[in-house]
Formats: sequence, C-alpha cells, structure tokens
Amino acid sequence: MNPVVDYLRISTIDRCNFRCLYCMPEDDDLDYALTPEVLTRNEIITLVRDVFTPLGFTRFRLTGGEPLLRPDIVDIVADIAALPTTRDLAITTNAFLLAQKAEDLYAAGLRRINISLDSLDPTTFDRIIHNRGRSRWQQTWDGILAAHRVGFDPLKLNVVVIPGINDSEILDLAELTIARNWHVRFIEFMPIGNANLFGDRGWIPSEELRDQIRAQWGLQDASVTGAGPADVFQIPGAKGTLGFISQMSECFCDRCNRVRLSADGWLRPCLLNETGQIDLKTRLRNGDPIHELRHAVGELLALKPEINFKQRESGTSGLAYGRTMSQIGG
Ligand code: SAM
Ligand code: SF4
Repeated sequence: MNPVVDYLRISTIDRCNFRCLYCMPEDDDLDYALTPEVLTRNEIITLVRDVFTPLGFTRFRLTGGEPLLRPDIVDIVADIAALPTTRDLAITTNAFLLAQKAEDLYAAGLRRINISLDSLDPTTFDRIIHNRGRSRWQQTWDGILAAHRVGFDPLKLNVVVIPGINDSEILDLAELTIARNWHVRFIEFMPIGNANLFGDRGWIPSEELRDQIRAQWGLQDASVTGAGPADVFQIPGAKGTLGFISQMSECFCDRCNRVRLSADGWLRPCLLNETGQIDLKTRLRNGDPIHELRHAVGELLALKPEINFKQRESGTSGLAYGRTMSQIGG
C-alpha cells in the first residue's frame, strides 16, 4: 500500500553561505532565483495553511540552500508552528548562523533540528565546504552546542559520506552519539546535479559503515516503523542513535511520504524526477483560486507513486539534472 503523503519540505532560499562539494559547484555560476521570484513569508504560510493543510499535510521541514540566511526565518517558523494542525516542524541547517538564532527559533515553536556536519576535523570540514578563508568549523560547532543547550530534541547530525575525504571519520562521528542524546545519520552521496564528481563510486554502502561500527562497539537495531527513510541503530548503552540513509544502495521509493516546494515556488513530487511539477508561485500570484491550487496538488499526489518509480525503472536514477540539491531543497 502506498504511504500517506503528509510531509512537505519547504526550501526557503536557494542561496547558501557554504559550497559543499557534493551540493554546489565550486564556482559561483548557479542560476539563483532572483529575490522577487522567491516565495515570500506570506506566500509560504498561505500555501501551507490553505493548500497543503486541507490536503492532510501535518509535517513540515524548512530547508534550502541555507534557511538561516533568510532574515524572516524565525517568523516563518512561528507562522507554521502556530497552525493547530501542525504536528511536526523541523529545520535543516548548516549551523553556521545557529548560535545567534537557536533561542529565537526555539521560542518561535521549533523543536526539531537537523544539522549538516561532515567532519570533526577543521581542515577536512573547510575542504568540503570549499572555504579558503578563516576556518568555519568552530562557529559551526558552536552553533551545534547552542542548539543542544537550548534543548532541541531530537538533534540530528547529517553526514554525507565521501570516499577519500571523510570516510576515515566514521567512528569519531558515530562516537558523538554515546555520551549525548544526538542522532548521527550517515547519508549516501547522491549524484544530483554533479553526477561524476566522485567517479564511479561516489558513495559507500551503509552496510560497510555499519560493519566498521559493529566491530568497534557492537550495534543494535533501533528502528521505529514509519520513522522516514533512515534505518536506525544504536551503539549498546549509547544515549543517541545512528541512522543510515541508503538511497543509492536501497530503493525506498515505496516508503516515500514527502513532496518538495522549491524556493521559487515549484512543487516537486520526487527528488529524482521533475515530472508533473507545479508552479504554485505563479498560479498564486496570478490570482488563481486557492481551491484550484488545492485540486492541482491533489491530482499530483495521486500520481506520485507512479512518478517515484519511473526514474528508477528507466535505469537512469541518479543522473545529473539541471538543478543541484541546494536549488531543489534537500
Ligand atoms: N544548508 C542546509 C544543510 O546543509 O543542512 C540545508 C540544505 S542541504 C541541501 C540539506 C541536506 O542535503 C544536507 O544534509 C546535505 O548534506 C544533503 N545533501 C546535499 N547534497 C547532497 C547529495 N548530493 N547527496 C546526499 N545528500 C546531499
Ligand atoms: Fe549549503 Fe547545505 Fe548545500 Fe552545504 S549542503 S552547500 S550547507 S545547502
């Protein structure tokens, strides 16, 4: 049976203050959406409240690009958190600006946070984010500690594993879950918008990572049904957990419960497939009645299971597309 699609990932901005090598090209030649093209705070809440919520959406994630670059991000959080139907609201951030915003975000109603942290080593970290100036690692780490102090729970750390760059740190990153209630999630690199970046094997199968961790501490299954795409494990006695998101070595399209809204207002039914996407921003700005937008989104949701699988079945999943992850909204 197809899962209920009740989860919307909202890209609030397509720009970023980092340039992670798996997410953005090194040179600044991306076609960013011009500011007038980006959904306003008012348009975001209108779409959430009047289009998605009546269709049964109760779970929302704010992402980007880097959502904390948006000056009104705390207001956007407050708007969505205040809806009585919102069951779950989360943000995904690189944490560089988090130390200054963590308290306000929490006060606005945010409780869940996912932070990208690909390395505990400042030199490797700066290499991954393409930073050539003063290291950005410490400010990022301070942002993570601020989120911990403020009380975000769960606090998840996302690690994209890149062979030859950060794969020697798997155990150090996994160890973060032992003393603190942090959830480290290892993500297989997806060749989106940069297919050939790491050659034939840009990703390491999650099972290889689990073998390393198992050999060091042991590993027990801690999966919760319906918890999303991660397979969850735990080091025995650890406070936190380890998640593995294995979209390259396993197909979890049949569990997919989400759609994505880009910063410039396109609703995308599948990360790997643009079929059927709807330009909600233009329709909203043209004054199309809300019930027509709702109807169009409902029709797209009905087609989603078929769209999900089309790309995989055609044997072309993972090909480079025109848009990078930062533009789609990861
Ligand atoms: N800037 C924020 C951040 O980095 O957390 C939010 C946006 S980022 C696009 C969201 C997530 O997508 C991050 O966890 C990032 O590691 C992941 N991501 C980006 N490009 C990826 C790729 N090619 N393969 C797998 N994950 C990727
Ligand atoms: Fe920016 Fe996040 Fe992409 Fe890194 S992964 S370049 S922090 S949007």
